[in-house]
Amino acid sequence: MDIKLEKMYGLFINGEFVPAQSGRTFKTCNPATGEVLAQIAMASADDVDCAVKAAWAAFSSWKKTTARERSEIMWKISDIVEENLEYFSTIETLDNGKTLEEARADITDVVDQFRYFAGCIRTDEGSYVEQDNHGFNIIRKEPLGVVAQIVPWNYPLSMAGWKMAPALAAGNCIVIKPASNTPLSLLEFARLAGKELPNGVLNVVTGSGHDCGEALTAHPGIRKVAFTGSTDVGTGVGETAGKNMIPFTLELGGKSAHIIFPDCQWDRALNAVKGGILGCAGQICSAGSRLFVHKDIYDKFVEELADCFAKVRVGNGLESGIEMGPLVDERQMETVLKYIDIGIKEGARLVTGGRRITEKFYNEGFFIEPTLFADVTNHMRIAQEEIFGPVLSAIPFTSEKEVIEMANDSPYGLAGGVWTQDINRGIRVVSQIDAGLMWLNTFDMYPAGTPFGGYKKSGFGREAHKMTMEEYFQVKTIYVSIEE
Ligand code: NAP
Ligand code: MG
Repeated sequence: MDIKLEKMYGLFINGEFVPAQSGRTFKTCNPATGEVLAQIAMASADDVDCAVKAAWAAFSSWKKTTARERSEIMWKISDIVEENLEYFSTIETLDNGKTLEEARADITDVVDQFRYFAGCIRTDEGSYVEQDNHGFNIIRKEPLGVVAQIVPWNYPLSMAGWKMAPALAAGNCIVIKPASNTPLSLLEFARLAGKELPNGVLNVVTGSGHDCGEALTAHPGIRKVAFTGSTDVGTGVGETAGKNMIPFTLELGGKSAHIIFPDCQWDRALNAVKGGILGCAGQICSAGSRLFVHKDIYDKFVEELADCFAKVRVGNGLESGIEMGPLVDERQMETVLKYIDIGIKEGARLVTGGRRITEKFYNEGFFIEPTLFADVTNHMRIAQEEIFGPVLSAIPFTSEKEVIEMANDSPYGLAGGVWTQDINRGIRVVSQIDAGLMWLNTFDMYPAGTPFGGYKKSGFGREAHKMTMEEYFQVKTIYVSIEE
């Protein structure tokens, strides 16, 4: 699809695009080619302040809307996104590098999240409780006011959808910041779908994490912050929110265990392991980046997996048949290459991959070969630290007890997968793993209605489920006493 992007995108404040007050901009590029896609306004604290004020001005009417009115608006937004699915998907591929097929799945997810929460709010209720002295409590849920949302670059519009939909459904106004690598899909969302919302209900500020992101988190007008990104930055966001006494939810990094027992459905497991680490070029927080394979099948599984990795078609995600796109930018590519080097120095066996792909066809893109390390031990850095690239560490195990201990020996606890046809063993193992989401005989499935979020250093709070709306409400109890 041919896309005509604007050359310059402003900040989306109070229903219109405006330049940053400083006049400063930054560029966003296509990681497959190095091409500059557009210039983007670089917000600073003053711009964030305008956005927060616009959101509060809108809140006085938005909070009075009924659940039905908000639900209907959210359905209209979902329709607009669906009608423009190819448009949004192409923009996502251009800006992030993921394949068009992956981008289509992301945008379909945005549609679904809006419809799911449009439904949730219609069925959500407060409660009524009888009390002593002929009284009763009405327990009412009220929106918080203006909330801040900060999203990463690996699932740009999809992560924004996970955040915007429950916040809007609950009656809040939003100031949201996309990642600087991938601002385009959210800005285009604001342009196309934002007009369904009253001015000021949704505001998009773009700019660096250190400047715009910190100003947004620290703004005294913010009543909640929802963050998805790295554990390092999330820790700082949580500290600031704590000081401001506002609630926060953090969706952070991971090092998810993917566990294969000898009685697995072989081809499905092999395919899921491959997709679980090479999807989005491994830049997935829930990537199955630690592979535990039972020793009885270890050599055969690793050999067949290496064969699958070597056959993967890496390239520009816009081209048909491409299975894996580039890393999002040079910095991310250098980080991944550094970890490959660390793995080799730690004594892991590099079975396949390990190089940047620099042939002519790849132009200036940030492509890395699908990389598989075998004979990894769980204490190696490549098994403990989040690499966020197409690099898999395969570790053999001998017993259920041993693999559960190794899977839990990680600072993270986001997700994980287990493959076995023995249902008792499957449930036994997934129940004992410290992670917020476990897949049994599948991987990387998170349709709306599947609570998503971490244990331990993977953060807290759950998204993509009706319980997420509770994070966007405050509870008011009205104790009513009736005189006899
Ligand atoms: P990041 O550096 O933490 O950035 C995430 C977002 O925070 C971006 O919008 C970034 O803006 C902003 N930011 C950076 N510094 C900030 C600060 N001091 N204050 C406020 N905001 C700030 O993470 P990333 O490298 O973009 O994303 C990769 C990480 O996200 C991985 O660790 C991954 O596991 C995690 N992740 C988790 C989930 C999940 O659901 N658990 C989903 C996706 C990704 P700039 O882009 O302008 O720097
Ligand atoms: Mg980009």
